[in-house]
Amino acid sequence: MTKPIDLHIHTTASDGTFSAKDVVSFSLAKGLKAIAITDHDTIDGIEEALVAGKELGLEVIPGVELSVEFPKGEMHILGYFIDHKSLSMQKNLKMLQEHRDARNPKVIEKLQDLGLKVSLEEAEAKAGGKVLGRPHIAAVLMDKGYVDSIQEAFDKYLAKGKPAYEPKEKLTPKEGIQLIKEGGGLAILAHPKHLGLEGEEIDRLISELVAFGLDGIEVYYTTHSPAEIESYEKLCQKYQLLATGGTDFHGNNKPDIKLGEGKGNLEVPYELVVKLKAAQ
Ligand code: AMP
Ligand code: FE
Ligand code: FE
Ligand code: ZN
Repeated sequence: MTKPIDLHIHTTASDGTFSAKDVVSFSLAKGLKAIAITDHDTIDGIEEALVAGKELGLEVIPGVELSVEFPKGEMHILGYFIDHKSLSMQKNLKMLQEHRDARNPKVIEKLQDLGLKVSLEEAEAKAGGKVLGRPHIAAVLMDKGYVDSIQEAFDKYLAKGKPAYEPKEKLTPKEGIQLIKEGGGLAILAHPKHLGLEGEEIDRLISELVAFGLDGIEVYYTTHSPAEIESYEKLCQKYQLLATGGTDFHGNNKPDIKLGEGKGNLEVPYELVVKLKAAQ
């Protein structure tokens, strides 16, 4: 059996709980052949992962996961083989960070208005000085006993449409795809299931994204059903897109998702990396 890969991994640079270096060691221990680091709106974990990969002997693909505008739901675009040293990338990511900094206090304020005793300082302590995201706020709510799990914090308060949700200014899908592609990166639509679209609607959206330069779809994802996987594979064939896969590993922030295997139903073959490299 060939060794599997994992092309969707978060580190402590965003809302994962393993450092980039620990992700590399853990991936080797799990027998993975290649990984991609894909933190939310930041490339701060990449250098550490590349160095550790070289030292310990694991192929590490530099990546990122951008949240882009999508009024109907959540749209995330993964970038692979991105130029993490490009000034344009750094400048744009800094702007996204500023948008986060503007949003987080508003989420905390909404929670306080709901009578929950939480502070921005507590959430910042959870994030450890790195990109502060909703999972960190969720972890504070769990620590304080307001919810029993991070998922419950989203379902009750933090998800879109819930009382402490606060929108965040984002790049448009076109801008996100262009930013990834500027330095020769590949732009992949992450976990299409999260878009909440079906049939014609998703087909239309993919064709729009293809016009902006989309290179692929994250077909293999732990919550995609066999029927969904088949429909995404068909879209890849129709629009000549690459298929990728990964777990969206977040460490203890998503305890049911295991590195390299997701909820136990995912095994992504190395062959997909070969195709990605050929498309670069
Ligand atoms: P943020 O970047 O602050 O908007 O937070 C995004 C993070 O929150 C991502 O890691 C998502 O996986 C997580 N997230 C977003 N919506 C949900 C949800 N409904 N349930 C669980 N986690 C979510
Ligand atoms: Fe996340
Ligand atoms: Fe995502
Ligand atoms: Zn992710």
